Amino acid sequence: MTDVILVLNAGSSSLKFAVYPKTEGANSPLLRGKISGIGTKPVFSARDAAGLELLQHGFAPIDPKTTADGLIPNLLDWVQAHLSGATICAAGHRVVHGGPHHAGPAVVTKTLLSDLEALVPLAPMHQPHNLAAIRCLAAKAPDMPQVACFDTSFHHTQDRLAQIFALPRALTDEGIIRYGFHGLSYEYIASTLPSYLGNRADGRVVVAHLGSGASICAMQNQRSVATSMGLTVLDGLMMGRRCGTLDPGVVLYLMEEKHMSAQQIKTLLYRQSGLLGVSGISNDMATLEQTDAPEAKQAIDLFCYRAAREVASLAVTIGGLDALIFTAGIGENSATVRADICARLRWMGVRIEAAANVQNAARLSPRGADIEVLVIPTDEETIIAQATRALTCGAGAAAQT
Ligand code: ADP
Repeated sequence: MTDVILVLNAGSSSLKFAVYPKTEGANSPLLRGKISGIGTKPVFSARDAAGLELLQHGFAPIDPKTTADGLIPNLLDWVQAHLSGATICAAGHRVVHGGPHHAGPAVVTKTLLSDLEALVPLAPMHQPHNLAAIRCLAAKAPDMPQVACFDTSFHHTQDRLAQIFALPRALTDEGIIRYGFHGLSYEYIASTLPSYLGNRADGRVVVAHLGSGASICAMQNQRSVATSMGLTVLDGLMMGRRCGTLDPGVVLYLMEEKHMSAQQIKTLLYRQSGLLGVSGISNDMATLEQTDAPEAKQAIDLFCYRAAREVASLAVTIGGLDALIFTAGIGENSATVRADICARLRWMGVRIEAAANVQNAARLSPRGADIEVLVIPTDEETIIAQATRALTCGAGAAAQT
């Protein structure tokens, strides 16, 4: 009987999953899939190890009103049916916020869950869904070990200066600091850098994770030096629905002059801003690129302008730039966005070849360029599977449990 590891990334409108062999070093998933459109129009999609599409057959009809965690019992049955004879021996979860104390993944315990619950106000749109998935699995399979992998952990290497806000010290001491996110994606990209860059992997690298959520991280020696997101996932780049960096005076104005409640402001900043807010059309980059409306073009222009400014600003923290990496949905697929960002960084010496860019090639910069420009597909699930395997099956497992 084969033992497998289940990886879950539960969000407000999607449940992503992957299944890996328990065997050490087996980094290719046996299954990978997603249920998107949760809460509105759920769509199931999955592929096997060879990349062939798998049918929803065996997955009970999805109630449009269900939540991501509500789909987990069904998913477990479906996985077992597709991998006949396999036993899910452990589960790993993406958890957005790990707070100040988790510099790495951790085995889930009751204490850990209540610590993570306390962080919900810092990631109100993500953390509750991540934790609900853990609870649901614990109820369904109480003996199965679970591991929480945090998007904040990778950034624990940042200097204090990169972390603190210019606020009264008492607030800093309370933990009101910049944590940074997308750390699982950055960890994966960092692990691939030697194969793309050789000795330059330890150099000054800026990684642009441009997806529905977007951030940028400056790395040196494959470690995080500074990043664009802060205490919450609202800061930094303009995103699909989130505003990114905003004058805090705007929030005061909305409260005092527009009499908006905290909840209304939260909805505005997390759900109604970004590409959606500026275009008034969509939060989806691919959709905006196919739209002629000037508002769509302005939204894309602002996205690229903000991203280029942030790349240049983060290059300051590492004293220059040896490589610029694009990743995630927009970074991996939008030649238009990459070309626009790189054109704005031409003064820094960033050059790309138009033909390579249009083909989404791995290397966009010309041979011998001072600054390497690469497209590297991210893989957060593999990082979660590795951590789950190490903490539940490997040498470190006994010490943790
Ligand atoms: P998440 O994992 O947070 O859902 P993704 O990393 O999948 O986000 O990125 C989603 C974004 O990538 C969407 O804005 C989508 O339109 C964009 N995207 C995906 N493919 C393309 C493409 N071919 N051209 C432009 N944008 C794309």
